[in-house]
Amino acid sequence: MLAYFIQGGQLMREQNVLITLFGATGDLAHRKLYPALFRLFQKGFIKNHFAVIGTARREWTDEYFRDVIKQSVQSLVKSEDELNQFLSHFYYQPHNVTDTHHYVVLKELSEELDAKYQIEGNRVFYLAMAPTFFGTITEHLKAEGLITEQGYNRLIIEKPFGKDYASAEELNNQLRQSFEEKQIYRIDHYLGKEMIQNISAVRFANRVFEALWNKENIDHVQISLLEQVSVEERGGYYDTSGALRDMVQNHILQILALVAMEPPVSFGDVRKNKIKVLEQLRPYTTAEEVNKNFVRGQYGPSVDGLKPGYREDANVADDSNMETYVAGKVFIDNERWEGVPFYVRTGKSLHSKETIIDVVFKEANSPLFCGIDGCPSNRISIHITPREGFCFVINSKAVGNTIALQTSHLEKIFDENFAMSSPEAYERLILDCIEGDMTNFTHWEEVAASWKYVDSIRQTWDSEIAAEFPNYAAGSKGPQSGYDLIERDGRKWVDRD
Ligand code: NAP
Repeated sequence: MLAYFIQGGQLMREQNVLITLFGATGDLAHRKLYPALFRLFQKGFIKNHFAVIGTARREWTDEYFRDVIKQSVQSLVKSEDELNQFLSHFYYQPHNVTDTHHYVVLKELSEELDAKYQIEGNRVFYLAMAPTFFGTITEHLKAEGLITEQGYNRLIIEKPFGKDYASAEELNNQLRQSFEEKQIYRIDHYLGKEMIQNISAVRFANRVFEALWNKENIDHVQISLLEQVSVEERGGYYDTSGALRDMVQNHILQILALVAMEPPVSFGDVRKNKIKVLEQLRPYTTAEEVNKNFVRGQYGPSVDGLKPGYREDANVADDSNMETYVAGKVFIDNERWEGVPFYVRTGKSLHSKETIIDVVFKEANSPLFCGIDGCPSNRISIHITPREGFCFVINSKAVGNTIALQTSHLEKIFDENFAMSSPEAYERLILDCIEGDMTNFTHWEEVAASWKYVDSIRQTWDSEIAAEFPNYAAGSKGPQSGYDLIERDGRKWVDRD
């Protein structure tokens, strides 16, 4: 019997599921997936009727596997008994994904565990591995009969989903040989973040914003994903990807779509409405258009020489032309957003770490208060990370015998308890998947439209002679060109320091 429990005042039901995790010895599994599963277990979403089969090439035993998981969830453990209960549901099967025989063994183990935990054929296949293996794995899952007839079969895959539209389409076609679109859960972990999910609540649950959310009232939107970290140990991968593919194609365009989409009637409409926005992005088709609207940068050593430059990374070519910074001006060709620029920027080794959306309204035009200098713009800022919360910037009269204005920041920044009590992105997304909710996963048509948009930028940059890199110092605010892009329109990035 599946257990029922109360969570957040709602009656919830334990889920029965067999999760087969490909890449169980890897970094993602260790840092994110085991803690996420443990939290779901602690809350009761998975309890008695679940099992996890971890697979990878390493010849681990169940015991060793459980020891590794124990280390990864250690900081969350409240009781040894609870931990041991959780660990008892984990099994390890050495497996090379290219070896057909291993799928036969995996099938037998899956059936055994399905019966043992009364899972009723519900299966999640989580591919925490390099995408080059996705096609091989899904093909074998179907061919060797791991996809069940009874219950559901769902596939979770990690980014990157291709490196351009053509490769993404090829990958998608491979997956679709074995799984239908409605079974494919493409993770963009940004969509699991609390404040990203809050964008829709802020927009649609507040008439004060939704009524003004259009070209008549909004001057422009800024989306900034700024990182202090360098490429760290990901240099090899990053040098084939760059900021455009690594951040703009997925996270930035996903955030933009949530900010800009038409109001959905139900949560089921969210992805449909996001697809529409992404298909309405105005493409830049000539090199002139690309370079006018998108700029790139690459970090060199910091001014004090303590932080190395990108090209000094052991896994990066000495003359690499890959961008670690991108800023761009994006337009959406629909009635709501006609003429409203969405400025986006992202970069590594910058002076600050911050993901934030700033929606800047048009100035008020009161003859009483706005005079020749105009009134400062209202702004709603949505802090995604590391601070989480909102800030609404409004004008009021300065205190005293004056009609001068003062600008106030009405700010709600959530405290540590909020972060502690809010589910971590992977926890939320894994639960969404086992509950069959696809809202926060990327549909193929979103992926396709995003790739089509960034491909023309990539192609232009790839066809040009080497950029003048490095063009910003590690630890700085990024290249001057990122500032010129917005300032030549008479606007400014909302920098916090
Ligand atoms: P990783 O640490 O390199 O792990 C790769 C896993 O694949 C290992 O468990 C490895 O185990 C297994 N593997 C490799 N070749 C195999 C084969 N032929 N047969 C069976 N197993 C094989 O990579 P990761 O960082 O966990 O990333 C996994 C995926 O998640 C990638 O697509 C990555 O882009 C994505 N991702 C990762 C992060 C992150 O924070 N790490 C964040 C976002 C997305 P063995 O060596 O034991 O075979």
